[in-house]
Amino acid sequence: MLLSALEWGLLVSQSVRICVQVRPCMDAPQALIRIDRVSRRYVRGVDEIHALENVSLNIPAGHFIAFMGPSGSGKSTLLNLVSGIDRPTSGEVIVAGERLNDLSEDELAHWRARHVGLIFQFFNLMPVLSARDNVALPLLLTKLDKRERLRRAETALRIVGLSERLDHFPRTLSGGEQQRVAIARAIVTDPDLIVADEPTGDLDARNAEEILALLRQLKQEFGKTVVMVTHDPRALRFVDDALHLDKGILLEGEAAERAGDAIRRAAGGHPVPGAA
Ligand code: ADP
Ligand code: MG
Repeated sequence: MLLSALEWGLLVSQSVRICVQVRPCMDAPQALIRIDRVSRRYVRGVDEIHALENVSLNIPAGHFIAFMGPSGSGKSTLLNLVSGIDRPTSGEVIVAGERLNDLSEDELAHWRARHVGLIFQFFNLMPVLSARDNVALPLLLTKLDKRERLRRAETALRIVGLSERLDHFPRTLSGGEQQRVAIARAIVTDPDLIVADEPTGDLDARNAEEILALLRQLKQEFGKTVVMVTHDPRALRFVDDALHLDKGILLEGEAAERAGDAIRRAAGGHPVPGAA
């Protein structure tokens, strides 16, 4: 299904990245993502909501990481900070060498277009566009001509296993296929970072596993850094590490292990072996 790294050709410009451990915090030189003492508070009426409190973490380039935790624990808030959709109330966010705190809205939008591919729970495809045109959309922001945009979209769709569906509209595709189109759209600009918020939340078990395997493949074959929010215990078999949040706090040590164990137990008590 997948192309070789060679065939990936123009879509891949970066060299193979060296992986180091996710922890310890703040001293991994190859970290693609550095979050230092970050807090994010929202004001709602007279209430102040502490969505994230003093979170620090490093994610090395080329890792596949899951943010896990109960609803409202701050997972999406953290993902939005990492992907430059939002900015922290305090603390530092440095991604792909850029201190995102310093960027204006416009600069952030340009930065995102260059560095980040976004994947959502409900796919967010344009219903009036074919799979190929959906995937080519982010390339409208580049100087590439139409022929080249469509060629790259076809390459990205080939990578996700949808060469046979180029001209299909979203409504004629299954949920799993629609998420594959969304993944193709996320990789077509060759971003450093792929960010996914509950990418398997709307899929059945088989499709969920296939999407998790595909995300892992993007990391393994193309050196992509993938950061995903998920409730899905199956994800533990595919990621390099799961980071657990609770009430805006990043759990560490025994608390993080207990959270991981609770997820495994909730999944039926089966051991979750590491992915091959
Ligand atoms: P999760 O993704 O883990 O379910 P979120 O990061 O979406 O949690 O939210 C964390 C907390 O911040 C929740 O209490 C949520 O209601 C609050 N929150 C998130 N976004 C906003 C916002 N834009 N305005 C006000 N409160 C928000
Ligand atoms: Mg969320």
